[in-house]
Amino acid sequence: MNKIVDFFHLEVKEGPKIYQGVCPVHDGDNKTAFILYKRSNYWKCFTRGCHEEYGNCGTGLVRALCEKNNIPYKKDLLDSDEIINNHNIYEYKEAINKTIIPKSHIQTLDIPSKKFLERGYPAQLLEKYEVGDCFNDKKLFRYRTVVPIYDRNYVNVVAATARTHYDWTPKWLHSKGFNRDNSLYNSWFAASYIKSYGVAILTEGVGDVLAFEKAGIHCSLGLFGAAMTNNQNKLLNNLGTTTIIIMTDNDEAGRKSAANIVEKNKNLFNFVVPKFDKKDVGELSSSEIQSIINPILERYSL
Ligand SMILES: [Zn+2]
Repeated sequence: MNKIVDFFHLEVKEGPKIYQGVCPVHDGDNKTAFILYKRSNYWKCFTRGCHEEYGNCGTGLVRALCEKNNIPYKKDLLDSDEIINNHNIYEYKEAINKTIIPKSHIQTLDIPSKKFLERGYPAQLLEKYEVGDCFNDKKLFRYRTVVPIYDRNYVNVVAATARTHYDWTPKWLHSKGFNRDNSLYNSWFAASYIKSYGVAILTEGVGDVLAFEKAGIHCSLGLFGAAMTNNQNKLLNNLGTTTIIIMTDNDEAGRKSAANIVEKNKNLFNFVVPKFDKKDVGELSSSEIQSIINPILERYSL
């Protein structure tokens, strides 16, 4: 028997692939208004669109039913791990990168980067993220601060991105063959936090993620740009994300991209888009970041 059906005593008919019945979220009397897929826990309310408010995934349904029945929603209520895993209606496959960067290359960098130390990032943080300067004239990343990008399991360095020390373009140069569609910066360290909170922070780049880390907030991910790609969406799903806090840059492109991400994915995740009055996350102090993020984490964490 399905755990959600069982736990909430849903009055549904069982078919080969779905359960169907009166929508248990808004009640009503249409006996075909609600469907719940057995395998994925994907659900839908055809009459009132209740899923739009809570999200199509199993955790969304559990949250909706808890709210309705005045049951406090806890992460481990009915082994929601299984529900979270099942809610991956998409299969996410880690991109197979032909060009894994040997760790010995990273070890040739001057870590911690002096340039990033000057910008206020703590040495310990830069060491953890292996952020270092390259002064080797023969290298692609000469006179840049190099930031390795790991796979989500923190096994291989699949790419690197590097910020110029001068005013060169591009400001951030990626290693050859890097496809941002397959990566979210910091997914390898943030994965366990996101799994336990259900909350992920989406931001544009490396500097923003490091600013969150400096503020002691460990569930942020960098898009390597302002828009969210299809595979990044699947990766977020795969990490067990139910709520997304969007902190793209506070300019027209950043705000537009935030609105686009919400519009395209409102059935999959809860969204919070906090307003802040600086240009980007990097300009906020740690205490400003904490005062924006902590209340949201408190409210939406599983
Ligand atoms: Zn409904």
